[in-house]
Amino acid sequence: MSGFGKNSDVVIVGGGPVGIALAIELAQRGITSTVVERYVSLQEIPKGQNLNQRTMELFHFWGAEERLRAARTIPASYGIGGLTAYGSLLSGYHYDWLRRELVQEFYFRKPERLPQQETERVLRARASELEQIDIHYGWRADRVFQDDTGAWVEAENAETGETRRFAGSYVVGCDGAHSTMRERAGITQTRNDHDKLMVLLVFRSTGLHRLLESFPGKSFYCVLHPDLKGYWRFFGRVDLGSSWFFHAPVPPGTTKENFDFKALLHEAVGAPFDVAFDHIGFWDLRIATADDYRNGRVFVAGDAAHSHPPYGGYGINTGFEDARNLGWKLAARMQGWGSEALLDSYSAERRPVFASTARDFIERFIQDDRRFLETWNPEKDRTEFEIHWTERSRITSEVSAYVPNYAGSPAVSGQPGAQSGATGEHRVQARAGFHLTPRVLSSGQNVYDALGPGFSLIALGADPHIVDAFRKAATERSIPFVVVEDDSQDNAKAYGARLVLVRPDQFVAWTGDGETVDPDAVLAKATGS
Ligand SMILES: Cc1cc2nc3c(=O)[nH]c(=O)nc-3n(C[C@H](O)[C@H](O)[C@H](O)COP(=O)(O)OP(=O)(O)OC[C@H]3O[C@@H](n4cnc5c(N)ncnc54)[C@H](O)[C@@H]3O)c2cc1C
Repeated sequence: MSGFGKNSDVVIVGGGPVGIALAIELAQRGITSTVVERYVSLQEIPKGQNLNQRTMELFHFWGAEERLRAARTIPASYGIGGLTAYGSLLSGYHYDWLRRELVQEFYFRKPERLPQQETERVLRARASELEQIDIHYGWRADRVFQDDTGAWVEAENAETGETRRFAGSYVVGCDGAHSTMRERAGITQTRNDHDKLMVLLVFRSTGLHRLLESFPGKSFYCVLHPDLKGYWRFFGRVDLGSSWFFHAPVPPGTTKENFDFKALLHEAVGAPFDVAFDHIGFWDLRIATADDYRNGRVFVAGDAAHSHPPYGGYGINTGFEDARNLGWKLAARMQGWGSEALLDSYSAERRPVFASTARDFIERFIQDDRRFLETWNPEKDRTEFEIHWTERSRITSEVSAYVPNYAGSPAVSGQPGAQSGATGEHRVQARAGFHLTPRVLSSGQNVYDALGPGFSLIALGADPHIVDAFRKAATERSIPFVVVEDDSQDNAKAYGARLVLVRPDQFVAWTGDGETVDPDAVLAKATGS
């Protein structure tokens, strides 16, 4: 990079939700970033609405939770539940779906729901408070370069045609599913095409609100139709009373002009109602995963690394966790306490989680729904259909079995042979590679409020000599480190260990009782040495 200086530590291409979240994560760790975003104003399309409990923990740590909750467009008193229906929304066959409340005890924060543009507004407001972040709106980055000392992008101003170079130690492409940064960095992706053209409709209707008053507390609705072979017709409220979005497969070759979208909406609901369209857009349904999330000094995160249909609300939530995972590791590397191997662990941890999310949840939903629709039909055998529809309504695995984890990561001290992925069982027990379940300490404080921004050792009546040895090893390695001491035997029992080492992203790096531990070796592994 000889001949020109760096604008900041990290250049982030794409000021969507994941790019801005990463900038905040880095800034709070003292790392500067330059964000390059092609559009000046926000895209007012209400995608990415379902924010799960884990995402809300992240917003809590990013200092933006209260603002996010205040920005919700559906009153808290109404509810954000989901529902699955058969045939049409009003067919009479429906059950509650995606019941996140079932796993609430395993998270520190409750879920939220609001249109993506509102979430992005909140993130931008938070970013504007942090002096480490420099955002350039209206610049499109077309090319990325790197050498031994840094990485940089060349960008053009859409309005003036001016070109500029933005340089840092690293570049992160958060530039969405059609990522230029991924392609230009030579990161290949594996695609699973479903050959389905999807329509996204954003519309206003008060009549639909009246029709759905029989489903109080519900904000999103999935319709399974036998003709669609497991692909969904999906409605979501944008506000309470008048605004909606809808997506569904449409025949190949459908355009804005040659298709009756109003009739499609009426069929999906099973009744006529008023419709005024605000947006009609299309996309191809596919699952694509970058084959590596890193090439040298260039990383990809969010939809740039993985894209998929919005089945189950995984997209933005997965992207935010990418930002958290990559953010602390980049900070660790730049501050000298994390290794190159720690940076490699970003891809080693996040790729298997997405691969499993795609395989074990998103594609499995489509396959299971298809199998059900092919097997049971109320027009052929109502009694059998109703027995199996009721059985289906009891399935809760879409939330209870979704347990993203890094059990097989080289940076955690997990069980030998363990694999990272997104399936498992929620447990209070602290397990290496898994999200820490919150617990109340003897002081009445939640352990999440006691964790530090770096590594935290939860010591539950553990030998003080071992705790001191951890402190000493962390100091020698310059690892930001706090000890959370508590004598509660209940917590030791619940976590299944007297010592729990928690990473900066609230995932457990190691657990033990301390008898035979080498604290320096544990910390070395957790920071990639
Ligand atoms: C209908 C619909 C519903 C959805 N519902 C959910 C849901 O309920 N829950 C959920 O988790 N996810 C949902 N998603 C997915 C979610 O919207 C995406 O996962 C999310 O937007 C990804 O964020 P991102 O920041 O990675 O990418 P994007 O949101 O695509 O942002 C990329 C940014 O990069 C900018 N950019 C692109 N190229 C360049 C360039 N060359 N130079 C500079 N800037 C560039 C773009 O302008 C944009 O601002 C939904 C998606 C759709 C379509």
